[in-house]
Amino acid sequence: MVMDTTLSIPDTLSFDAAERHSVVIVGAGPAGYTAALYAARANLAPVVFQGLQPGGQLVTTTDVENFPGFPGGILGPDLMMKFEDQAREFGADLRYGTVTHVDFSQRPFRLVVDETTPILADAVIVSTGASAKYLGLPNEKRLLGRGVSACATCDGAFFRNQALAIVGGGDTAAEEALFLTRFASKVYLIHRRGELRASKIMAERVMVHDKIEPIWNTEVVDVLGENGVEGLRLRNVETGDERDLDVNGFFVAIGHQPNTSVFKGHLEMDAQGYLSTRPGSTYTSIEGVFACGDVQDHVYRQAITAAGTGCMAAIDAERWLAEHGEIDGVRTETDYHAAPPEASTAQTNVAEVSKAVPEAP
Ligand code: NDP
Repeated sequence: MVMDTTLSIPDTLSFDAAERHSVVIVGAGPAGYTAALYAARANLAPVVFQGLQPGGQLVTTTDVENFPGFPGGILGPDLMMKFEDQAREFGADLRYGTVTHVDFSQRPFRLVVDETTPILADAVIVSTGASAKYLGLPNEKRLLGRGVSACATCDGAFFRNQALAIVGGGDTAAEEALFLTRFASKVYLIHRRGELRASKIMAERVMVHDKIEPIWNTEVVDVLGENGVEGLRLRNVETGDERDLDVNGFFVAIGHQPNTSVFKGHLEMDAQGYLSTRPGSTYTSIEGVFACGDVQDHVYRQAITAAGTGCMAAIDAERWLAEHGEIDGVRTETDYHAAPPEASTAQTNVAEVSKAVPEAP
C-alpha cells in the first residue's frame, strides 16, 4: 500500500502528552453510536469523535418508518438523539471534532483531531459513513427532506399515487426506480445518456416496467417548488431545449461517496473508496482497526444494518483488545507483534469475549 503523504501527521506534532484511550470511534451515525454503546457497556470507555454532522445521514431525513421498535415511525434526528443518549448513558465520551489525520503504522495508533489535537488509541473503530452525491442544483438542498431525497427505501412510501422522478443511470437508480413503482403512480427516470449503465438485468426490468418512463439525454437544471417539490426543469443535452416536468418528489441516485479520504494510504479500500473488511467481520487491513456502517457497505446502506455492524465492530475490538493484552492495562511489546488472529477466530462467540473483559458494575 502506498502511503498518502499529503495526509501524514505533521512531524512537528508531539504525542508525548497525548490522551490515550482503549477505543476511539471515528464518526457518529447509527454504526458509531452502536459501537460506542457496546464498547461502553464493556467498560472500554470509548471516545467518539463525531465529525461535522453528529448523527450522520439520518439527521437530514424526516420520518424513519423502517427502524424496528418504532411503530408509527420516528424522525431521523430524534432517532439519532436516542442513539446518542443511550451511548452516553453507559459512559461513552462523545466529543465534537473531526479526525483529520491518522497513523496506523505503529501502536498505539495515532490520530489528530481538528488538525491540532493528538490522540492515542489502542483500537480504532471507523464509522465515518458515506454521503449521497447530489447534483448541486440551486433548490435541491433547500427542498431536501421536503420532496427531495437520496434514499428511495427511506422515503418512497411517502409518495403514494404521486408522480416521481429519479435521476441517474446506474444500478442504484434502476433499483430505486423499481422500488418507487410500488408507491408512485408514475416514475420518470432521467438520465444524461441514451442508455443505462446499470447491469443488464436491472436495466431490462426498468425498460419493461409500465410505470417507468425513461427520459434520455436529459439533465435536471433545477427543482421547482416553494415548500415542497412541484416539478423539475429539464434540459435536453443534445438540443439544449428546456421544459418543465410536473412531479411531487425527486430522488437523486447518482452514487454515494464513502467518507474515507482521511484513511487513503492507511487502510485498504476498493476502487470507489469503501473500506475493505474481512468477510463476516469488521476487521480492516490493519490489526486493531475496525470498520462498520456505510463506510464499508455499499450494498445495504440502512440504519439497521449500520447499527448491526457497529455492534460487531465493538465486539471485534473488545475481543482483539483482550487477545492483545490491552484490557486491564496488561500491555507488552510481544503482544503488539503477536501473529494476527486467523479469520476463523473472528467468529469467537460473545460469551467467550465477555469472559475476557471486566464485568460491568
Ligand atoms: P454509479 O456510479 O454506478 O452510477 C451513477 C449514475 O449517476 C451514472 O449513470 C452517472 O451517469 C450518473 N451521474 C453521476 N453524476 C451525475 C450528475 N452530476 N448528473 C447526472 N447524472 C450523474 O453509482 P450507483 O450508486 O448506481 O452504483 C454504485 C455501485 O454499487 C455500482 O458498482 C453498482 O453496480 C453497485 N450497486 C449494486 C446494486 C446491486 O447489486 N443490487 C444496487 C446498487 C448499486 P453516467 O452513466 O453518465 O456516468
